[in-house]
Amino acid sequence: MSTTGFAMRHHTHTVTVSHADSMVRIGGSHPVVVQSMTNTDTVDALGTALQVKELAMAGSELVRITVNSPEAAAAVPYIREQLDKMGVYVPLVGDFHYNGHKLLTDYPDCAQALSKYRINPGNVGKGAKKDAQFAQMIEVAAKYDKPVRIGVNWGSLDQSVLARIMDDNAQRSAPWTAQQVMTEALIASALESAQAAQDIGLAENKIVISCKVSNVQDLVAVYQQLAQRCHYALHLGLTEAGMGSKGIVASTAALSVLLQQGIGDTIRVSLTPEPNGSRSTEVVVAQEILQTMGFRQFTPMVVACPGCGRTTSTVFQELASDIQTYLREQMPVWKNQYAGVEGMTVAVMGCVVNGPGESKHANIGISLPGTGETPAAPVFVDGERTVTLKGDNIAVEFQAIVQAYIEK
Ligand code: SF4
Repeated sequence: MSTTGFAMRHHTHTVTVSHADSMVRIGGSHPVVVQSMTNTDTVDALGTALQVKELAMAGSELVRITVNSPEAAAAVPYIREQLDKMGVYVPLVGDFHYNGHKLLTDYPDCAQALSKYRINPGNVGKGAKKDAQFAQMIEVAAKYDKPVRIGVNWGSLDQSVLARIMDDNAQRSAPWTAQQVMTEALIASALESAQAAQDIGLAENKIVISCKVSNVQDLVAVYQQLAQRCHYALHLGLTEAGMGSKGIVASTAALSVLLQQGIGDTIRVSLTPEPNGSRSTEVVVAQEILQTMGFRQFTPMVVACPGCGRTTSTVFQELASDIQTYLREQMPVWKNQYAGVEGMTVAVMGCVVNGPGESKHANIGISLPGTGETPAAPVFVDGERTVTLKGDNIAVEFQAIVQAYIEK
């Protein structure tokens, strides 16, 4: 059983982000979009293009790159060109802070090569310059017909907005808590900037909003209010989620609560990569959040039991892992070459207790022999027992059955 969740989806305007024939729609009733960000120096154009390709092949539907210097801005068109030559048409998003107004104005090729701009209202400038510099960026976006994400972050919140909200709070007969002040300041910064962008000439269907914090409960509170107060497409992400299992669990907890409530049109799982770890892990985690919740289907799902004292060998864990890796490698999302079988389930089970039952419910299942059982592994295809594998080549033979099923 699964739910789509879309019936209760918060209504948002659809924002289209495109490059060449690649068109990604964020918001409305469109599937929640997976995005990620490179961690290469953008000046290293080839290195950045290769990491964008890696992320796109893993399934990132948008990839953001930092544009932090004139050299980086100059590299952007070359990165785009390299990707196009590689046949990778994933839309690129430029991440701008402090000097974005100058870079977008001084490097028109960069402004055109990017498919979307991320603007942090807290890092646009101070005092009188702020409005002018923000307007400069929005005017470039309007000129080149590019959508923009107004990306507010608690770590770089516009201090003038925070000071104003705190002053207002001091006048209240029942003052807000510190969390309510924070929530209001984040939302006010995002919505006031979005309104300013509209006043300058950017349509509401060119605006995506995000208000990122690093605490799960704060993120949920902020986005619940944001959804009540606007219909801009919403980018969800727990910022500075952290490393390893902590980062994965924290992001999953926060995003799942909001997605289940119909809030969120695009997600990024911000993981600190392990030393020598793959950047694309964050893409896989984002996909798995959406797939396990039943919102999207990316690759066949591998169902595997945890193992227990009935399994004394590691054969079934290895087989489950091999099958998961094999299926993911066979189905690069960017090529979409096996579209239609993403929803299939493969069960790899460790013994007779739950093995046959779970295998029958999957499209393909194998029940490996547990301790003391006859050394034979029945295979089920579409609920029917088709063959029993024996011997040392069970893993290879089962993989061949899965491959044949996919091709059929
Ligand atoms: Fe243990 Fe068998 Fe259940 Fe797997 S299916 S957890 S091996 S009892």
